[in-house]
Formats: sequence, structure tokens, C-alpha cells
Amino acid sequence: MAKDKQHRVTGVELLNTPYLNKGTAFTEEERDQLGLRGLIPPRQVPIEEQHERVWENYGYKPSDLAKYIYLIGLQDRNETLFYYLLERHMQEMMPIVYTPTVGLACQKYSRIFRRPRGLVISLQDRGRVDSILDNWPSQDIRIVVVTDGERILGLGDLGLNGMGIPVGKLSLYVAAAGIDPRMTLPVCIDVGTDNQELLADPLYLGLAQARERGEPYDALIDEFINATQKRWPNCIIQFEDFGNTNAFRFLEKYRDTGPVFNDDMQGTGSVVYAGLLGALRVTGQLLQDQRVVFLGAGEAAVGIARAMIRGMLDEGLSEEEAHQRFWLVDSKGLVTRDRLDTLAAHKKPFAREEPPAVSLQEVVQRVKPTVLLGVSGQPGKFTREIIDSMSAAVDRPIIFALSNPTSKAECTAEDAYNWSNGQAIFASGSPFDPVEYNGRTLVPGQGNNVYIFPGVGLGVIFSGAKRITDSMFHIAAKTLAAAVPPGTLDTGSVFPAMDELQAVSLRIGIAVAQEAYRLNLNTMPEPDDVDAAFADFIWKPEYKSLL
Ligand code: NAD
Repeated sequence: MAKDKQHRVTGVELLNTPYLNKGTAFTEEERDQLGLRGLIPPRQVPIEEQHERVWENYGYKPSDLAKYIYLIGLQDRNETLFYYLLERHMQEMMPIVYTPTVGLACQKYSRIFRRPRGLVISLQDRGRVDSILDNWPSQDIRIVVVTDGERILGLGDLGLNGMGIPVGKLSLYVAAAGIDPRMTLPVCIDVGTDNQELLADPLYLGLAQARERGEPYDALIDEFINATQKRWPNCIIQFEDFGNTNAFRFLEKYRDTGPVFNDDMQGTGSVVYAGLLGALRVTGQLLQDQRVVFLGAGEAAVGIARAMIRGMLDEGLSEEEAHQRFWLVDSKGLVTRDRLDTLAAHKKPFAREEPPAVSLQEVVQRVKPTVLLGVSGQPGKFTREIIDSMSAAVDRPIIFALSNPTSKAECTAEDAYNWSNGQAIFASGSPFDPVEYNGRTLVPGQGNNVYIFPGVGLGVIFSGAKRITDSMFHIAAKTLAAAVPPGTLDTGSVFPAMDELQAVSLRIGIAVAQEAYRLNLNTMPEPDDVDAAFADFIWKPEYKSLL
């Protein structure tokens, strides 16, 4: 566990140390011995009452962005209370600390900035990344989430403003999987931005220059990875919201250097594969029999297709047969072999030997997909005609409109249900409210990566795994799919309710650790009683004595 050098902090400095601060909950003895007397109101208040106060205050906030700012403020003041609150209101607060509100918060990051959180490493820091990491006080970082801000959710290049994403994701590691917050470090690599609006904004806090894409960029990333692995060996490095040309090559380049993964590909692949397994429990079909059309052929699409291919291989298909189950449509139309010369490497394995098709509508009419997945960042692309055609050909169309935030979804839950006569099995990336359809309440599932990455991270950290394998994500997906109760499937949702998140993450954590032991990738010994050891490892938002 993290060494707690900060225990000696006293007085005002203690109140300003969010990890240790208890606000009005300091005991009489702590007030005397830690120089707090007079600095806080006299009555000692338990965390339950503090929670009532912050929950009430949260309710006064007039907008989602105001709620986000309030929560970040609380996190910066009293981390224990922040997580106590978040854990009790996961369903309500997930869309605030993560998508969709975090998207808006990123767009406005430089304007709502109050306190720094995490590390920013800019192009100007080449050659001194080691010393920047030394500025971070914790000796025991186990997980770094890093972005370069180029593809934030479906919102494009937000430069330094993308910092909100690593901050948000790491909060979810703590809230969902009980990772000690001191073990986490958000990082933004600032190499400029091509977002003209930000460049023209006098309050933008990032480097005011065009995004560097050449050798200096690669050298900075390399220096960062090496320095991180040197300072904190076996620390997870999670690539987050990089543009797809960099995301694919960095994953290949670094995944065998340590426990490195890319959530946009591997986490997304795992969660959507789990959702499909749930949907297939409803339709009673096999994965290998599906015809899967993707709108979008980037990181998410390829990550999902790869995860599904693994599942199809399990069912007995060959690689080649499995690839034949997919039709990818990008901004230029269907990915076909006659486009091979100009296709990006990640699309080539999916190029089909068939006539070109420009529109999604044409592809849907031709293929009659059983599964339609939206990962294009293009809102409204699943039109009534498309859902009509799909529903005419299959009984229970599986439609996942996954683009984030909500404003980018390919269709709404309501449209999917209405246009399919209530037959669609629908899931989205950002949450949609339940929909009343013909006297039934249909609950759209949210294919949020939060169902996967905290549990995977927990298992990797607990076992000290040296690598993060695709098999770990596969096992995570199966564990998640198995955790969806039949009653939940009956309501239309293929994912568990958000208030199941901690239990699910724990199950995934244990399964992933067991996979690490099986593959001999662990650097921590396998405990005799895994369940008890996990329970002991998990950080809880409770005040501990500082004496
Ligand atoms: P990406 O940039 O790697 O890929 C986007 C793809 O969309 C590209 O292939 C591009 O050609 C295609 N595209 C763009 N315009 C198009 C158009 N008009 N018609 C057809 N295709 C078009 O991005 P990504 O990482 O794959 O993410 C895509 C979207 O998926 C984002 O909105 C992201 O928020 C969402 N996403 C959701 C989840 C989730 O729900 N769990 C996870 C990851 C990503």
C-alpha cells in the first residue's frame, strides 16, 4: 500500500490536503494534537452528516456543469467525502463526473480551471520528463491515465482541455474498484492543438500552437513512457482518447513493455462484446451467426470487432470466417478491397470483397444486419429508414448507438424503440432515460467502459501483472455479461444497473488476477484466500485516525 508520508501534516496545511482532510469530522484528540483547534467549527460531525450537507448542496446546483464544478471542488477539498458521496449516488453522478457532462467540462476546462490536478507534460519539457515525474509526491503510483487530448470523446481535438478525461476516469477507478486514490495519476501530454476555437481563446491554458505530429511528438511520448516505467515499475499506463493513428501504433509499440493498454480499443471492445452477449441471451442466438455492421471504422470499431472475433473463435469459427461477419462503413462508405491502397492499416483486415457502397442505408439493405453499431461520432446517422429496413429483416435488431457524448449518438433510445416497433435491443455510450412504449417501460443499457476498466485495473494492480493481455479483457467481458440478472435483461437493458458497479468490478478484478496467475504474469504472490485478500486491498472512503 502507499506509504503515507503525509501523516505529519498539521494545521491549515492538513485542511488543505484533500487526501487527509476530514473537515468537521476531526476528533477532539486530532484537533488538539494536529494544531486544528479553532480552525474548524467546534462540533465533531460524522461522515454521514457531512454527506447530508454536501448532497443537499449538490442539489442546489442549477446545471450539470455547476454540479461537475461542485464535485471537483469537493474532491479538491476532501477526497474521502467526495468518494463517499459518489459511491452513494453512482447512478445520478456517473453522467456528471463522466460522459456526457465531462465532455462539456473539457470544452470549458480552461475557463472553469480552479486547481491543478495531475501532471501536464508539454513539448517544452522534452529532456526533463524524469524531473517532472519527480515533482509528484507519491512513491507508489500504480496507474497512470494519459491523454494527448486529440480525440476527446466524440468532440475532437481539445488539446490541454482533455485533462478532464484522465481525471474523471481515475475517479471512477477509485469509486468503482476501490483503488487507493494516492495510487492514481492523471497526465496530459500537451503538444498543441489544431482546434482553432481554442487557439483563438485568450483564456486557453495549453500551448498556443498547432499540434506537433512529427518526431518531437514521438520522442516526448517515448520519454514519458520510459520515465514512468523507471520511476514506478509495473505501473499501469492507460492510453486514453488519443487520435486513432497514434492510438493503434502506441498500443503495438508499448503493450509488451509493461502493463499498458488502450481503453478506447480494448475497454470498449470488452464492454460492447459483453453487451452483445447479453443481447444474444435475449435472442437465443450465437455470436458466430451475427451479421454486424459498424458505422465508424476507428479505434472503437476495431476494438469491438477484435473482441467479437475472439468470441467467435471460441465458438469454433476460423479467423477468416470470423472477419466475414463484419461490414465496416467509414466516412467514405463501405470498407472494401478496391479501397485497399488508401485504407489505414487497422481497416485492411476488414476490407470486403464486394461492390462498393457509399451510404449506410445501402449497406443495411444489402447485408440485413442483425447487429448495428454506431461508433462514428456522427449524430442522427441511424435514420428511420435504416432502422425500418433492419427491423423488416430481423425480429430483434440489436442497435447500439455508442457515440459520446449524448449529442453525438447515432440515434436516441426512443427513436430506436419507436422505429423498430419496440423490438430493438438498444444500448448507447451515454445514458438515455427509460422509454414508455405500448405500456411497457424499456430501459436502455449504457455500454459504458466503466463496467470494464476499473475491474481490469484492480486485477492487474492486485496481482502486479507485468502485462495486460487481450485474454484479460475477454474474461472481463464474460464476467460482466454473466453479472446481468435475467430481470434486467427483461427490461431491455443488457448491462447491470450502475449500483451494481462495485460488485461487478470486484468480480472482474478477481477474474483478471486469476488470469494473471494462470499466465504467470503476476509479480505479487497469489494469496490463499483471494476474496479476503481483495477485501483487504480495497480502499474505502472512511476516515482513519491520523494519530
Ligand atoms: P475514431 O476517430 O478512431 O473513429 C471514428 C470513425 O468514424 C472513423 O473511422 C471515421 O472514418 C468514421 N466516420 C467519421 N465520419 C463518418 C461518417 N459521416 N460516416 C461514417 N463514418 C464516419 O474514434 P473512436 O475512438 O472509434 O470513437 C468513435 C465514437 O465512439 C466516439 O464518439 C466515442 O465517444 C465513441 N465511443 C464510445 C464508447 C462507449 O460507448 N463505450 C467507447 C469508445 C468510443
